[in-house]
Amino acid sequence: MSLCDSGPRCPELDGVSATPTLESSPCSAHLQQPGFAETKCSILKLAMASEKTFYLETFGCQMNAHDSEKVIGTLLHEGYRQVDVEEDAGLILYNTCSIRDKAEQKVFNRLNDYKKLHKAGKRFGVLGCVAQQEGEKIFDRAPYVSLVSGSASYRKLPEMLSRLEAGENRITGLDDRQTDETFETELTSRQNPYRGYITIIEGCDKFCAYCVVPYTRGKERSRGSASVLAEARRIADQGYTEIQLLGQNVNSYRDPEGKLSFAELLAAVGQVPGIRRVRFTTSHPRDFTPDIVQAIDAYPTLCDHVHLPVQSGSSRVLKMMSREYTYEWYLERISWIKAARRKISLSTDIIVGFPGETPDDFIKTMDLLQEVQYDCVFGFKYSGRPNTPALTMIDSVPEAEKVKRLQLVLDRQREIQRVNYARHLGEEMEVMVEGMNPARGQVAGRSTQNKPVNFTTSVPIAPAPGSYMRVKITNTFPNSLVGEAV
Ligand code: SAM
Ligand code: SF4
Repeated sequence: MSLCDSGPRCPELDGVSATPTLESSPCSAHLQQPGFAETKCSILKLAMASEKTFYLETFGCQMNAHDSEKVIGTLLHEGYRQVDVEEDAGLILYNTCSIRDKAEQKVFNRLNDYKKLHKAGKRFGVLGCVAQQEGEKIFDRAPYVSLVSGSASYRKLPEMLSRLEAGENRITGLDDRQTDETFETELTSRQNPYRGYITIIEGCDKFCAYCVVPYTRGKERSRGSASVLAEARRIADQGYTEIQLLGQNVNSYRDPEGKLSFAELLAAVGQVPGIRRVRFTTSHPRDFTPDIVQAIDAYPTLCDHVHLPVQSGSSRVLKMMSREYTYEWYLERISWIKAARRKISLSTDIIVGFPGETPDDFIKTMDLLQEVQYDCVFGFKYSGRPNTPALTMIDSVPEAEKVKRLQLVLDRQREIQRVNYARHLGEEMEVMVEGMNPARGQVAGRSTQNKPVNFTTSVPIAPAPGSYMRVKITNTFPNSLVGEAV
């Protein structure tokens, strides 16, 4: 749950449905041509029946959304066509998330909803974290699934697809978590019209006590800086002006070529011609260094926003979580960010109800909110995850108490944001257009601080996603700003 309007990640793990079909149906297109004979249409229909089509639905974070862009690119390259409903697809894929139990359940519900399509000859594949976590058990639970692959095995997708097409069942890609290779591909099919994602580091070696990521995404491995910069230039050539660098811990980046530190890479991406905004997420406090703030100060293209998950305000709980920092250590990093020449917006993740979290520990988290004054907080109730050390601890906080603590966090945060956002009243700022809100007749966009800005314009034509406008703020809410284009 969060008080942020689709902030730096997708914390609610709502399914992000596949993007629109790339091509229109040949039948409808041809039928509009004068004199197009019925017979020709039948031939086309036959051809379409043997056509390779896929539907892909993504659950979870931005890393997953971007993995899906790479998977889509790979499938298109292998001759598949993307469709936007399960019924039209020969191959149905779910790219899954297992960070919290609700997300995982959603995937099995979705499989259950569509299993009837198996009888119509459709094939099913489960990708991502649930695939890696549950492995071959998925075939027992959902026998109509033919392909199960974790993200570390996506490099082998073309091979797995050939086996699928040859009629093989129970195909797995599960044994590549110890790889040093990243899933680099020039085939990425970018689905976001205004933001180009680049994964610079995959996996995680930190093993926080509650977290499945090191088990599902494998060991930490960074992509070479030359390859990252080449992709940044390619993205800019495609017309993108905003780049978001991604990693479970993006600032743990270690250039395998030994050329650039994370801060230097940020600076280099920020200097790619045509790039006006660079974001990065998620930063881990352990690896947060002062040169990141110096880079933000030095390069105006680096956005005024840092997402720095704290998880708890109690050093005792942080220790139990194996976060390997204390409250004081975390606050020191916050003080570096607050000392920047530019006002850098801060956001965080908080887990309430971790095993052993006492009322006193929880008060420390509430005090931390007051101390830091974040602009956005993603709050989660602790949920026990398979294979994690925390699962052996006694889940001592009852569900009702977790609900209560989460609500208290959100209520406190709402008040903090009400004041923070109100400070923008009367300010003029640059907003990047993300889309339209037709119901309100407003353009939706985002400030460099990642704050949602909804505004009106005096011209009748909606500005294009990815364009920039100057907006004067005329009203404020706890999680959005309202204004008029100037
Ligand atoms: N690597 C980032 C870090 O260490 O800060 C976080 C990445 S994790 C994919 C996203 C967030 O999910 C975490 O910051 C944490 O708040 C939340 N999370 C992870 N495991 C959880 C669990 N078992 N129960 C509740 N929340 C969890
Ligand atoms: Fe999970 Fe911790 Fe790794 Fe973040 S650092 S992905 S919370 S194990």
